[in-house]
Amino acid sequence: MGLSEIETRIQKACDEAGRDRASVQLIAVSKVQPLERIEAVLEQGHRLFGENRVQEAAGKWPDFQQRFDDVSVHLIGPLQSNKTRQAIELFDAIHSVDRPKLAKAIARIADELGHCPDLFIQVNTGEEPQKAGVMPDDTDAFVAQCRDLGLPIKGLMSIPPVEETPSLHFALLAKLAARNGLDGLSMGMSSDFEEAIALGATHIRVGSAIFGARVRQG
Ligand SMILES: *Cc1c(COP(=O)(O)O)cnc(C)c1O
Repeated sequence: MGLSEIETRIQKACDEAGRDRASVQLIAVSKVQPLERIEAVLEQGHRLFGENRVQEAAGKWPDFQQRFDDVSVHLIGPLQSNKTRQAIELFDAIHSVDRPKLAKAIARIADELGHCPDLFIQVNTGEEPQKAGVMPDDTDAFVAQCRDLGLPIKGLMSIPPVEETPSLHFALLAKLAARNGLDGLSMGMSSDFEEAIALGATHIRVGSAIFGARVRQG
């Protein structure tokens, strides 16, 4: 696989869904990938990347951002409240806002720093006990709470359970977003991004299909 093949598949999925290619952003998920693979994708002109750990992103992106213009990095993994400041400084978007304590910390620090990344609320559509995210039934209230805090909520994000049909989860996420007046839908990974595009994804998060298998699980 690789970037150009993924681009072809995204274009095809957009055509089939009657969507404009520009309505879907490809987040190249570079967690735990060797730096030379990331550099190769940067050399091909790709500029939007996703990382799931603050520390790991802090170790590689400032350097790449010195060498390549207009690089954006999104946090797609869980965020501990004590790393909020660092996350706001590093990332252009955070896809894992999932609890009031974190929402309040983001609001306070963003206010202090004078800027805030785009935010997505993570929804645990499969209601899995071990997984992060607000429950579907709690989503409306949490969106309202974030808006009361003045946070720039762009959309919802979900990671469907591995053993279930992803489209059911994508459809649920789309429904929750629509009823809250949110346009952003961060959903779809290497194995299911075409289905996510068919159901309205605006941000797909594709790692291994672009970079190859991860050396260790991230
Ligand atoms: C790792 C990861 C991805 C990418 O997964 P692939 O299967 O390699 O495409 C997408 N989203 C999140 C939240 C991830 O942690």
